[in-house]
Amino acid sequence: MKKIALFPGSFDPLTNGHLDTITRGAALFDEVIVGVFVNTSKKSFFSAEEKVQLIETAVAHLTNVRVLVQEHELTADVARSLGAKFLLRGIRSVKDYEYEKDIAQMNRHLNAELETVFLLASPEYNHISSSILKEVIQFGGDVESYLPPVINQAILEKRDAK
Ligand code: ADP
Repeated sequence: MKKIALFPGSFDPLTNGHLDTITRGAALFDEVIVGVFVNTSKKSFFSAEEKVQLIETAVAHLTNVRVLVQEHELTADVARSLGAKFLLRGIRSVKDYEYEKDIAQMNRHLNAELETVFLLASPEYNHISSSILKEVIQFGGDVESYLPPVINQAILEKRDAK
């Protein structure tokens, strides 16, 4: 049976850290599905549709990766309906670990067949987050090396249009 992993997240925006996790996940699983949350609490820089389009471009070279919007549904249910038996998550720090551990336990409670697989962030990316990059960009800082080119371009366009 095909081993499918769901990689859920806000991806506001997708960084090279996320892309690194996706690339390594794509080598482990038959298929990786990037699930873009529709975020209700946090104000998003990009809409879910914009994120899907940008991520699709950033992962176009990975033939076993696809991208979809996760509507207001539990991740555990989304995984079940996609036939995904694995959740892919990245861990940068002890802080991430504490948070991810609780979510993984809850997801296992909600869907006993679901196994969360954690990949340690690569050292060159383990200090970056979408929120830090957005903050630096707002004030004109250069974080190009931490973003897929298509995403860096889209952020600059959106920032300059404001
Ligand atoms: P969420 O809102 O669920 O935290 P994110 O988009 O922030 O969504 O992150 C999605 C996943 O990617 C999480 O597992 C997170 O720990 C991981 N991640 C975030 N930044 C990095 C990075 N720089 N390197 C590797 N993994 C990362």
